[in-house]
Order: sequence, then structure tokens, then C-alpha cells
Amino acid sequence: MHEHQQRKQLLQIAHLCYERRLLVAMDGNLSVLLPSGDVLCTRAGCHKGLLTDDDLLVVDRRGNKLRGSGTPTSELKMHLACYDERPDIRAVVHAHPPISVAFTIAGISLARCVLPEVVLTLGTIPTVEYETTGTDALAARIGPWIREHDAILMDRHGAVCVGRDLLTAFCNLETMEHTALITKTARDLGGARDLPPDEATKLRQMGLLRYGGPPDAVKKAEAGGHDLPSACTACADPAPSLRMAHVQGPTAAPSALEDAVLREVLKSLGKP
Ligand SMILES: [Zn+2]
Repeated sequence: MHEHQQRKQLLQIAHLCYERRLLVAMDGNLSVLLPSGDVLCTRAGCHKGLLTDDDLLVVDRRGNKLRGSGTPTSELKMHLACYDERPDIRAVVHAHPPISVAFTIAGISLARCVLPEVVLTLGTIPTVEYETTGTDALAARIGPWIREHDAILMDRHGAVCVGRDLLTAFCNLETMEHTALITKTARDLGGARDLPPDEATKLRQMGLLRYGGPPDAVKKAEAGGHDLPSACTACADPAPSLRMAHVQGPTAAPSALEDAVLREVLKSLGKP
């Protein structure tokens, strides 16, 4: 794809992000690798619903501005970290999908195998520990997760989705928010039931072989495995390596702290 086509597509995808309510106001940022190997990205402080070609600028892979006016997005380091970790991807979309972000604030994991289509195409959606937006620390934290996932959530912040082109990265973002909406609705209706672990692992292996994915994950599938963390193959287990993979819900047992607080309250009320 030529640069002028990529510029046009970036504007279309940015407008869609806004129209689909995946970000508001000056939120979010998008980038794509140009045929030259440089990065076309959004500038800081622009409205994605009203994005025009003047809001796009070109930087090199170290973040130095080459063309365009204004300053690059404050999250440029995060985009560059994604490209450094994943030579197979050419686009990064960062947005603040509201239901997905609400899951992180509520401390409820989206790293669960509930929808077959999502397990096939994305695997699980992990939540990465909180870091201040726009910092080196955030970029450093995102990198290793992007190595193994095409869509991740940042605690209390938003989504980072990658792909071989902008449309694929956007589809991953849309799929994430759609998954969050369906999961939330199921929880409102009484609970979200996980796929049986055997079916989840079969689907994921099939999906990686059929549709591809992070190269590390594809290698595992080719060797007869899959990239689902053990938390997904035994959903009830907490997984320290995958933040919030342990789902909190109406059926979850109270934590030791909640238990202790409850006992204190009952004691103060004079009840056993
Ligand atoms: Zn953000």
C-alpha cells in the first residue's frame, strides 16, 4: 500500500474509533509503518473524530520527527515498543474502549475463554499493570505483552491493539470491546460460563494455525501446543503471571480480608 493510501486509511480508522465510541475527545493514537520503514502517526492533541491529513506526521523508528507539523502523540514510545517487539506487525491502535476499561477498574478479567470466535482469533485479552500514561515505564511494560498478544488492556487506561495493517488492528480493538459487552451482559444475566478447557485449547491451536498471530504463539501451535495460559485451561486458578486472570464474580469466595472485615462487622453488631 502506498503512503497516500495508508494516510487515507488511518483517517478512516480514526473516524471509526470515534464513531464506534472506542475513544472520546483527544483520546487515543494510531500509527502505521510506511513502506520506507518510518512511522506515520497521529499528532498530540487532535480529535480522532475530526482527524485530517494535517494531523498526521512521520517519525523515524527512534521517534525523531521527519515530516509534518505539531508534536507526535505522547504515546509514541509505546507504539515504537510494539514495532520493536513484533517485526510481523505494521499498525498499532490505542484507544479507550469504555466497557473494556471498566472491566479493569472493577478488577474483572477479560483473559477468559468465553467466545469461540475470540479464542480462535485473539486468544485471551490480558490486563497489564498500571503505569503512568506516556512514560518510558509504560512502553517498557507493554512491549513484552505485545510479543505474545495482539490485543491487550492497560489497567485503568485503555487498549493497545496491533496487526499486520490498520484494519486488522482496528478489528482486534472492536472485537475486544464487543467481547467486553457480551461478557458484561452475560454477567448481568447471571454469569459468564467459560468454554470447557479442552475446547478452548483446541480452538486456540486451530486459530493460530489458520489465521496466524504472534509468531511465538504460532510456533507453539505448530509444535502441537497453544498459547493459552494455564489460568485459561483451569479457569478457577489464579495466575500470577496473567494479571486479573482470576475472575472475581458473584460465585467467587470472599477474600481473607473481606472475611475478616465481615467478622468484625458482625462482632460489632453482637452477632456470631
Ligand atoms: Zn490513552
